Amino acid sequence: MRHDDIECYHIHLHCRIFQGVEIVDSSHFITPENVERLKLAKEANRVQIDYNAQPIQNDTKKEKPCANGDSQIGTVGCVAVDSNGNLASATSTGGLVNKMAGRIGDTPVIGAGTYANELCAVSATGKGESIIRGTVARDVAALMEFKGLSLKEAADCVVHERTPKGTVGLIAVSAAGEVVMSFNTTGMFRGCATEDGYSEVAIWSDAQVE
Ligand code: ASP
Repeated sequence: MRHDDIECYHIHLHCRIFQGVEIVDSSHFITPENVERLKLAKEANRVQIDYNAQPIQNDTKKEKPCANGDSQIGTVGCVAVDSNGNLASATSTGGLVNKMAGRIGDTPVIGAGTYANELCAVSATGKGESIIRGTVARDVAALMEFKGLSLKEAADCVVHERTPKGTVGLIAVSAAGEVVMSFNTTGMFRGCATEDGYSEVAIWSDAQVE
C-alpha cells in the first residue's frame, strides 16, 4: 500500500466517524438503470450526462442537454455563505456515462468545478473537459478579484463568453450574499434558500415557461 493510499483511507474513516455519512460498497451503484444506460451509450459509442440519452460529445446537432438533469442521479452542487461572509462550496457527481476508465472530471478539481475563497463560492456542472479547460469556478473569483466585476458579471462572462455553449452551468454566492445561477445549456435544476425564508427553484431560463 502506497503512502497516499493510507491517507485516503484515513479520510474515509474520518467521514464515517465525524460526518455520519454512510459509506457503501461500489456495487451499490450498479443498478439495472445504470447498466442499461451504459449499454446504450456503448452501443452508440458516445459519452453522456447520466440522466438521459442526450449525447454531450461528438454530436452538436442534437438538442443541448440540461447542465444536470436529474435530481436523483445528476451532479449535486452546493454553495453557502454565513452571516460573517464565510463561504463554502461542494460538488458531487457520478461523472459521465461511458467515460474513459480513470477519467477524472471537473468536480473534484479545485478551481475547475469547485472553488471558494473570500470573495465567492462556485460549484459547476456540465461537460467536465470544458469546465477544466476554462478553470470555470476559479475564473469567476479571478474576474471579481482582478477586474472588480460583480458576481453576476463574472459568472455571466465565464459561462456565456468563455465556455462553449451547451457545456456548463454553475451556482455561485458572494460574501455579500449575492446569488447567481448561470448556465449556457437548455436548463439547469437549481434552487436557492435564505435565512429569512426566501426560496426559489427553477429548471429553465427566466425567458422560458417552466
Ligand atoms: N461535470 C461532471 C463531469 O464532467 C458531470 C456532471 O456535471 O454531472 O464529470
